[in-house]
Amino acid sequence: MPELPDLEVIAANLAPRVVDRTIRGAEALHPAFLQSTDPPLAEMEGRAIEEIWRRGKYLLFRLTGGLLFAVHLMRAGWVWHGASRYSATKSTVFRIELDDGNDIRVIEAGFPKLTRGWLLSSLDQGPLSGLGVEPLGEEFTLERFAAIVSGKRRQIKKVLVDQKLIAGIGNAYSDEILFEARLSPFRYAHTLSPAEIERLWRAIPEVLRWAISEIKARVGDGLYQEEERSFLRVHGRAGKPCPRCSTPIGEVLLSGQRTDFCPHCQHVDELPPRSGSRGDRGTKDKP
Ligand SMILES: [Zn+2]
Repeated sequence: MPELPDLEVIAANLAPRVVDRTIRGAEALHPAFLQSTDPPLAEMEGRAIEEIWRRGKYLLFRLTGGLLFAVHLMRAGWVWHGASRYSATKSTVFRIELDDGNDIRVIEAGFPKLTRGWLLSSLDQGPLSGLGVEPLGEEFTLERFAAIVSGKRRQIKKVLVDQKLIAGIGNAYSDEILFEARLSPFRYAHTLSPAEIERLWRAIPEVLRWAISEIKARVGDGLYQEEERSFLRVHGRAGKPCPRCSTPIGEVLLSGQRTDFCPHCQHVDELPPRSGSRGDRGTKDKP
């Protein structure tokens, strides 16, 4: 599933291709894709794309006249840009036709199709309204983070992936952040000391910025179909040696989510009971 660093790169690489282009038409090819009804999709026609950016795990398009189009790529969606003359396939869930003979398409192979889009008249509408703080924004201060974490009787990983608290971090990057901060993903947030909270707070933007530059270095200015994750240090590396201490990376399912960690560097003395454990309210990593 694309997370903040992936979406930052997608937005940065898509923008030079499509900003200032005018939309000729927009069409949802999968019935569940479009989640908004007002304003109607036809309102996109004739508007220019002014800006493309990211908020949380949403890719956002600002259109002339103040309209916003938000896309969530969910598990396996990706963005394609190319000539309109190529016909849409069964995997095309949404297309925007531009005035230069190109399309922007949202592609998702397989079923069920989970990618979703919203045409909105303001940022505080729809799914964007409940999003938490941006971890790369100036507002992500130590005080703000400490207030988010303190007193939460939830495992710290679940706090990091809760989009209502902090926007944009998912399963993969929460593992990487906890590795960088040398904290067990199973620690309860309310047990963290002020020094540990500060360490974790520093690790969040550090890991996200590092990931953005690693992805950029690998994909250049291209749009890509799958997340570039080959550089990760713990996530997806179960059984392989920790890059710091060579201990095999451990893996546990936490509420059905694969959680990878270094048992030594992250001081994992005790594994949690199987998912459904106390304090696990089943908060999922959803938009
Ligand atoms: Zn280690």
